[in-house]
Amino acid sequence: MYKIPLVDLQIQHQRLAKPINVAIRRVVDSNKFILGEDVSLFEHEFAQFSRTKYAVGTGNGTLSIHVALVALGIGKGDEVITVPNTFIATSETVSQTGAKVVFCDIDPMTHTMDPESVIKKITKRTKALLPVHIHGNPCYMDRLKSIAVKHNLFIIEDAAQAHGAEYLEKRVGNWGHVATFSFFPAKNLGAWGDAGGIVTNNKRLYKLIKTLVNHGRKEKYIHEREGFNYRLDTLQAAILRVKLPYLEKWNQLRRRHAVLYRKLFKKIPEVECVKEAKGGRSAYHLFVICHPKRDKIKAFLAQKGIETGVHYPVPLHLQPAYKYLGYKKGDLPVAEEKSQEILSLPMYPELTNIQIERIVEYVKKAID
Ligand SMILES: *Cc1c(COP(=O)(O)O)cnc(C)c1O
Repeated sequence: MYKIPLVDLQIQHQRLAKPINVAIRRVVDSNKFILGEDVSLFEHEFAQFSRTKYAVGTGNGTLSIHVALVALGIGKGDEVITVPNTFIATSETVSQTGAKVVFCDIDPMTHTMDPESVIKKITKRTKALLPVHIHGNPCYMDRLKSIAVKHNLFIIEDAAQAHGAEYLEKRVGNWGHVATFSFFPAKNLGAWGDAGGIVTNNKRLYKLIKTLVNHGRKEKYIHEREGFNYRLDTLQAAILRVKLPYLEKWNQLRRRHAVLYRKLFKKIPEVECVKEAKGGRSAYHLFVICHPKRDKIKAFLAQKGIETGVHYPVPLHLQPAYKYLGYKKGDLPVAEEKSQEILSLPMYPELTNIQIERIVEYVKKAID
């Protein structure tokens, strides 16, 4: 229905239909649907892509966060600090370990975790920071890391939207103790269903996570501990392996589109584009602008056949699910204000310059 969708998966899948069909057939013919060869090969290839020592495939991005927290020993009595402008998967997994989720505010320029706000939220119970590279935009990892070192905290990077993003020339996944990814179909690297992954440079954590995702197994029926069935599906691994070699190129195209968006929006100073931190290279999962008349712009673009999104309209600390935590309006002012103004514009590798020009033109018309 939309002439310019928010994301277009169709183009990519048509182009790769043949090799993907071959890959699927190979798995079917092998009869190894569970932890087949493609899973370990994908893990190896994704670690290479992330420039980390290790990677583990998982069932999805949510399970990745959960198992990472469990592997770090986080549970009852602990507190984990995260941001409210993320998908609920980030925080619900903290609660599922028995730990308490604590929300801090975001930086108004990059919309990522505000290190100053983090410091104010640290207590004796704080065990970990869970920064989110939201929209693909890397957090201020150097500052978060020094806070974590000073207070003896773990860092779990939620990199579900940030495959290949970099900060100070280091890829996400190399800053924290562990980083988690989603391969949900619409992410920068997407499967044909649910899939996820974890990267780390810590051998002990790697080994622990690897057994935890497969029932704590050492051998077929020898369990070192209780674990989970959080395995990456072999068919999804095979599909991801076909797509992964293109990811670098796709991210470059996304960055190129972002440069054009920014250039065109320079002429409309009332529209503010979310910025990258100094030294940050976003993976541009989304391109997000801010304007007080967000809803009006969104409706006007929809009329013109342009799909947009709001990621996310209600900050987590004000969600019904977190009423019990007792936050009030005004507690995290930056996140609250931004949630009213943000608008995600179409962003995918195959977007054209002409389409971007048309989108920006209509944004201008909407606020004129
Ligand atoms: C997509 C996403 C998740 C969850 O990933 P799933 O694969 O859908 O479980 C977690 N955190 C963020 C920031 C996400 O965007």
